[in-house]
Amino acid sequence: MDDRHLPVALAEPPTLDLRADFPGLTTPGGAPWHYLDTAATAQKPQAVIDTVVRAMGKDYATVHRGVYSRSADMTRSYEEARQRISRFIGGREDEIVFTRGATEAINLVANSWGRANLKPGDRILLSALEHHSNIIPWQMIAEATGAKIDVVPLTADHRIDLDAAEKMIGPRHKLIAFVHVSNVTGSVLDVGRAADIAHSVGAKLLLDGCQAVPHMPVDVAALGCDFYVFSAHKLYGPTGIGALWASGDILADMPPWEGGGSMIERVTFEKTTYDVPPQRFEAGTPAIVEAIGFAAAADYVDAIGREAIHAHEAALTKRLRRELGRMNDVTLFGPDDGAGIVSFLIDGIHPHDLGTILDDGDVAIRAGHHCAQPLMDYLDIPATARASFAVHSSEADIDALIEGIGRTRRIFGKG
Ligand code: PMP
Repeated sequence: MDDRHLPVALAEPPTLDLRADFPGLTTPGGAPWHYLDTAATAQKPQAVIDTVVRAMGKDYATVHRGVYSRSADMTRSYEEARQRISRFIGGREDEIVFTRGATEAINLVANSWGRANLKPGDRILLSALEHHSNIIPWQMIAEATGAKIDVVPLTADHRIDLDAAEKMIGPRHKLIAFVHVSNVTGSVLDVGRAADIAHSVGAKLLLDGCQAVPHMPVDVAALGCDFYVFSAHKLYGPTGIGALWASGDILADMPPWEGGGSMIERVTFEKTTYDVPPQRFEAGTPAIVEAIGFAAAADYVDAIGREAIHAHEAALTKRLRRELGRMNDVTLFGPDDGAGIVSFLIDGIHPHDLGTILDDGDVAIRAGHHCAQPLMDYLDIPATARASFAVHSSEADIDALIEGIGRTRRIFGKG
């Protein structure tokens, strides 16, 4: 599916009413909490919490080693979670490596695939929109291998400029690593075109899907990428777990990057041989409970339907951008069809001040550089205020935000 053509026009009004699924959405005093920071981390639905409690309680045991039946059952649940997460993004069942999160997944690709495939003179193409997680691992591996990094600029509405990328790409590029949906601007990448650009020179395409998987359908086979990474905690699942997807062929050729238990075939002091993927990349006792919770989160999201989620959040995005766009002291970042994320600045009010005053009205937004300092430099701003939506978000959350902005203005003597 071409992500740029999801049905934004059909998206009004927002349709989901799922607040009751989320026990975290009330304040200690019992008032509604207007949580608009899902791009940082998502609140958890009761279904995920119940699954985690059960896995950590009456079902708990280790995986892959126990000879007793509880361990065999837990191993089955853990491996079923892998299959579930792979299916969730259109992969085959042995193509998911569990990691601590998207950050670790990118570090894994850099240290394993990167070390094996990059040499002096090779180039890596990133964009000005990237999260630090999709910059620093490449800087480290570039330093270790002698490869160099090029940075694609943005269009006027803050998408990755693929016309520029097409001009910049050359035979020395071995990898393009782009964000699928920006955590700052919500910009959605035209993945089909990015894949064509990468593959035209035989380079691989890695997509940072952290902010895409909670907001829209993702099918790695249709997208045509080579690596896809994301974190469970932004998808209504637990912290401490995420996933790397890569096709079986690519994983089979990648060397291990961390050594330890569970990733071996045979160990002697003379020579160690390694297990097949994905186990080759999962050294040590894995995040068992978290993997099972991750799968429960995928079930939760799929029960709602990702088209429905996208339509709901697109309607909210559209309304918030319209309301903010009417205020003549507000600068909006990103395109109008950003996926569930709205970044903005109010003249004369620092985002941190706005965030603090909003908190007094039980509205939670993110203020800062969003782990994208090069993007802040590119836009020549120190920070933005960011509101991000979830399946439980509603017009009431936007009303509370707009009301809080009015209060902040009054406090700052701005009318
Ligand atoms: N990429 C993007 C676009 C993100 O939004 C985030 C989280 N803010 C990350 C990478 C890193 O994810 P994690 O901290 O879960 O590893």
